[in-house]
Amino acid sequence: MSAPLFQNYINGEWVGGRTFENRNPANTGEVVGLFVKGTAADMTAAVDAAHVALPAWADLSGPARGNLLYKVADILDRKFDQLGEEMCREEGKTLPEAKGEVRRAINIFRYFGGEGSRMPGAIVPSERDRVHMFSLRKPIGVVGLVTPWNFPIAIPAWKMAPALICGNPIVVKPASVSPLSSWRIVEACHEAGFPKGVVNFVAGSGGTLGSAMVNATHLKAISFTGSCGVGEWLHAEASKRRLRIQLEMGGKNPTIVLADADFNSAVENVVNAAFFSTGQKCTATSRVIVEDAIYDRYVAALVERTKKLKVGDGMKPGIDIGPAVDEDQLKTNLDYIAIGRAEAGEPLCGGNRLTGGDYDKGYFVEPTIFGGVTETMRLAQEEIFGPILAVMRARDFYDALRIANNIPFGLSASVQTTNISRVFEFVYRAEAGLLTVNLPSAGVEYQLPFGGTKDSSFGPKEQGQAAMEFYSDHKTVYLKY
Ligand code: NAP
Repeated sequence: MSAPLFQNYINGEWVGGRTFENRNPANTGEVVGLFVKGTAADMTAAVDAAHVALPAWADLSGPARGNLLYKVADILDRKFDQLGEEMCREEGKTLPEAKGEVRRAINIFRYFGGEGSRMPGAIVPSERDRVHMFSLRKPIGVVGLVTPWNFPIAIPAWKMAPALICGNPIVVKPASVSPLSSWRIVEACHEAGFPKGVVNFVAGSGGTLGSAMVNATHLKAISFTGSCGVGEWLHAEASKRRLRIQLEMGGKNPTIVLADADFNSAVENVVNAAFFSTGQKCTATSRVIVEDAIYDRYVAALVERTKKLKVGDGMKPGIDIGPAVDEDQLKTNLDYIAIGRAEAGEPLCGGNRLTGGDYDKGYFVEPTIFGGVTETMRLAQEEIFGPILAVMRARDFYDALRIANNIPFGLSASVQTTNISRVFEFVYRAEAGLLTVNLPSAGVEYQLPFGGTKDSSFGPKEQGQAAMEFYSDHKTVYLKY
C-alpha cells in the first residue's frame, strides 16, 4: 500500500509539489506519510495570503474566534486515538505519552478558545478629572510559527492557539521529521471553517523556508522552538527587519538530589525525567547532582531501576522508551556515549545501540548512565537530547546549586528534598525558567508561563496568560468626558 500524501495548505487550498518521506523511527521500513516539500515561493504565498486575511480576522469578535478554536478541539478529540497512534509512529514516543500529548493539545485549544471572551486589557484610575483611561489588545499581524520534532502536536498547538485567538493569521512550518501531527491540527482548522488565509501550513526544508519566512514582506513576528544554532540565526535575521521574535531553545537541565529526599521518589523522578520520551524533551534531566552523603546508595538504586526499563517500539504495550527520532539523533547519542567513555570511563549502565530482531528496524539505544562526571566535561555542559544521564557528586546543597547553575543554559531545574528552607533557596537561586520540586524536571501544563532563561530562551514566555503578551499589542486610550 502506498503511503498517504499530505499537502501544504495555503490560502484555504491544499497545494501539491515534490514530496519527502516521514518515516517511523521504530520501523524505518514504514513510510508514515509523504509530505509536500514547500518552496520559498510557497512560503511567500502563504505569508501574502495571511496578510490579505488579516483585517477580517482581526475584526472578528474574540468570542467568535474562540468558537472556532473550540471546534478544532472537538475535531481533534474525535480523532484522539488516531492522533496518538500517528504521533507514536512518526516520532517514536510511546503510545501513552503520545496520547497524553494529544490531550494536552486539545486542552490548549479549549484554554485559548476561552481567552477570546476575556482578552484582558486594563482600566485604571486617572490622576486627572473626568479622564477615563484604559488599554486594549490588538493583533500584531502575520506570525510565522517554526516548530521542532519532539512535541509534534503540543508545541504547534501552544503557538497556534494563542496566535489565532489574538487575531493574527499564521503560517506554520513544522519539523521535517514529524510534520503529521501539526498537519492534523491544520486539517481540523480547515474542517472547523476558518476563513481562507488565516491558517497556512508549509512543510519542507528549514533552511529554504526559514529564509523565505524571515524575509517575507508582510511577516510581523516569528515564534521559534528548536536548537540554539537555528534560533540564533533566525534572531539575527529577524532583528534586521525588527520582527518581533520569541525563541525557545536547548537545555542541560539539572536535578539536585539531597540526602533528606524521599529516596524512592527521587529515583523514580530522575528515571522519568532523564529517559522517558527517549530523553528527547527540552525539559529532560541530563545531569543529576547527588549530595555526597547518599551518592553511592542513590546511584546504585538509579542504575538498578534504569536497567529494568524496556526499550522498543512505542506502539507495543509495556514499552518505556522508544527509539531516537532519526538517524542523526541516533548518531549524536552514540557520539556522546563515545565522548562520555573518553571523559568519564565505562558507563554504569547502557552505552550501546540495541541490535538484533526488531531492534534492527529502528534507532534504539540503551538508556545510559555515566558516573563521576565533573563540571568541565562535555557530558556536563552540552545538550545531547537523548537517553544519556550524567551523574555528578556535590558536597552539600550549596555545592549542588553552584554546579546546577554552572552552564550556559537555563530551561528547567529540579530539586528533590524534604527540607522547606532548601526548597525556597532553590526556588530563588536556581537559574532556570521552569522549576520543579519533588517532581520530574519535565512535564509541564499549559496554564502557566513556559520558557527558559540564559541561552535557552529569548523574548516573552509561551503558554498561559503570558502567551497573550507575545501575540498582541497594547493600545492605550486616554478619554476626557
Ligand atoms: P532544529 O533543528 O533547530 O529545528 C527546529 C525547526 O527549525 C524545524 O522546523 C526545522 O526545520 C527549522 N529550521 C531548520 N533550519 C532553519 C532555518 N535556517 N530557519 C528557520 N527554521 C529552520 O531543532 P530540532 O532538532 O527540531 O529540535 C530539537 C531542539 O529543540 C533541541 O535543541 C531542544 O532543546 C529544542 N527544544 C526546545 C524546547 C523549548 O521549549 N525550549 C522545546 C522543544 C525542543 P527542519 O526540520 O526542516 O530542519
